[in-house]
Amino acid sequence: MEKFKAENNMKKKLIMLFSFISIIAISGIILIASYYSPAISEQKKVSLYLSYIAVLFIFVIVFLRQTLIEQRNISRLNIEKRETEIKLDEEKNRFETLFESTNNGIALLNLNGRFQRVNKAICELLGYSEVDMYAMNFFYLINQNDINSLQISIQHLIDNTISVHQSEHECFRKNGEILWILVTLSLIRDHLGIPKYFILQVENITMQKKAEDRLRHMAYHDPLTGLANRNKLEQFINHLLLSARRQQQCFALLFLDLDGFKNINDTIGHEAGDLLLQVVAERLRNVVRNTDMIVRLGGDEFVLLVTDIKKTESVAIIAKKILDNILQAVIIKGQDIYITTSIGISIYPYDGQNMQALMKCADLALYRAKEHGRNNYQFYTQEMTVKAKEKMNIKNALAQALTKDEFFLHYQPKMEIKTRRITGIEALLRWKNKDFGEVRPDEIISLAEESGLIIPVSEWILQTACTQLKAWHYQGFSSLTMSVNCTSRQFKQSTFIEDIQRIMAKIDIKTTFLEVEVTESMIMRDPENTMRLLDTLKEIGVRIVIDDFGTGYWSIGNLRQLSVDQIKIDGTFIKQVTLDETSAEIVSAIIAMVNKLGIISVAENVETREQYEFLAAEGCREIQGYYLTQPLPAEAMTSFLKHPVPDAEVISAT
Ligand code: C2E
Ligand code: CA
Ligand code: CA
Repeated sequence: MEKFKAENNMKKKLIMLFSFISIIAISGIILIASYYSPAISEQKKVSLYLSYIAVLFIFVIVFLRQTLIEQRNISRLNIEKRETEIKLDEEKNRFETLFESTNNGIALLNLNGRFQRVNKAICELLGYSEVDMYAMNFFYLINQNDINSLQISIQHLIDNTISVHQSEHECFRKNGEILWILVTLSLIRDHLGIPKYFILQVENITMQKKAEDRLRHMAYHDPLTGLANRNKLEQFINHLLLSARRQQQCFALLFLDLDGFKNINDTIGHEAGDLLLQVVAERLRNVVRNTDMIVRLGGDEFVLLVTDIKKTESVAIIAKKILDNILQAVIIKGQDIYITTSIGISIYPYDGQNMQALMKCADLALYRAKEHGRNNYQFYTQEMTVKAKEKMNIKNALAQALTKDEFFLHYQPKMEIKTRRITGIEALLRWKNKDFGEVRPDEIISLAEESGLIIPVSEWILQTACTQLKAWHYQGFSSLTMSVNCTSRQFKQSTFIEDIQRIMAKIDIKTTFLEVEVTESMIMRDPENTMRLLDTLKEIGVRIVIDDFGTGYWSIGNLRQLSVDQIKIDGTFIKQVTLDETSAEIVSAIIAMVNKLGIISVAENVETREQYEFLAAEGCREIQGYYLTQPLPAEAMTSFLKHPVPDAEVISAT
């Protein structure tokens, strides 16, 4: 451009010079001719000479001015050119510095993908020297499965439908190591728009990819055991359902729940409990094929999916194997720990067509396995659903029992052997419904616990029993105590103590007449909280009775920590005392130890004179059971208190 301009100027100058010389020459000829012409006067000749000189002078001035302007333009252009050159140099240096010093790998590729220029970062990233790189093609470095999709994007770049392409690829370093890279490709065209090169930018995203993988793994796995979690189970079942439907295959869902894990966990500590779960997970892994899946749902619940089963017998064999494997002792902190599991099994497609239905059936079967004494497996049957439905109906009826006034209490007395005095009465819940008849109290309690209804029902029991006690006190049986049975759910209620105080105050009866019966297993379920509550109960004057003693893990030694008032030896031992020597020995030992601790020993479910005599001889302090009387309605109990059986008499009434 500059050159073109300069040539143009030179031409203009030459034309001007030529015109000037031509004019001077022609004017000169005319002047010489006029000099010799006699027709022109001397005066005219002088003015002609002067005009000629003036024109000459003007031409010189114009020429000089033009030359000066051009000279100035040239030097301005030269300065501008120099400045542009400097700027370009600076840009180039900056680009070079950037190209070499950036941490991102940058390269220039020809249209076939061969490296034309590379920076240090890309060489370091891929582990090749610069010389190596120039002999290589970028497209051979990345995972070949990605090539087709990359080629499509390259065509889009060439067609100008996109200006930049970005994608993530696995790529191989020189030493074989696999990297994850983010590739950015853009195209350079010449001044006619023809594609010339690709600019390739490469960023190492291996760490980010690893973090993503870890997060994905965490989203689908249980951190404690490394087994799949519920999300993965859902994903796998959906996949299984599709393929099983297509290929008309069956699969089994085994729902496992460790027996009494909570108790073990509370006894050996959570850390050891976690170890135990890891061992169980490992044992389950050893039982399954690698096409099956083991899942930890949380806590001590596991699911096992057994794929492509031909007959249910093979599932039974697997279930049996699991039971046997888990039964083996686990050594934790040098201690032998034994755990068992119960298993409920549902089978696709017979028991359900989706995950929800299959889980529900397996859960019902698991419930049955627990009912069957644990450490066994049960296949789901239709009849379980019928039972479950029935249970739901009872639960619904139970929810209305309080408002419909269907609950009532029966009362059963306790007698002190030595004095034959009736010391206290236990309140026992009863429910009569028009559809279900009389429902067993332990069933009512467990249903009420499940639905949360236990809180208002227990409040009603306490209020009714203590109001009745107040009436008996009023009738002269003024030293009688009232025992109420408690459940874990009540102990979790934050207002438990306040509620008792409020009710007792309202009835206007001292808390010292109230006895609260708790079982060993209730304490074991949540020892810290239960013991704290029992301490508070003691502080407000309530007496503590340990019910069903001997059936749990609670040892007599532990009772020292609690200021327990009475211990009720479980009825199953009492039943055996006159039949079996071992039971007799156990009961004698319990009585002796309880008495030694200054706690009142009570034998429950005493039915016969022989049992009574044995207990009396062993020094048992009090008895309760059909031997005295069955649990009675309030009025019948009043008559009993007035005319007790010959052996028992109510001293307080006299
Ligand atoms: P539990 O507290 O051990 O109550 C003693 C159970 O033994 C009562 O059964 C009673 O009727 C029965 N029984 C009493 N004497 C004899 C006897 O000589 N022989 C035999 N075989 N049984 C005898 P019930 O009333 O069916 O209650 C069963 C369980 O239900 C109770 O066991 C208790 O755990 C629970 N329960 C009953 N009423 C209530 C209540 O009001 N609240 C709570 N939380 N639980 C209750
Ligand atoms: Ca009881
Ligand atoms: Ca009992």
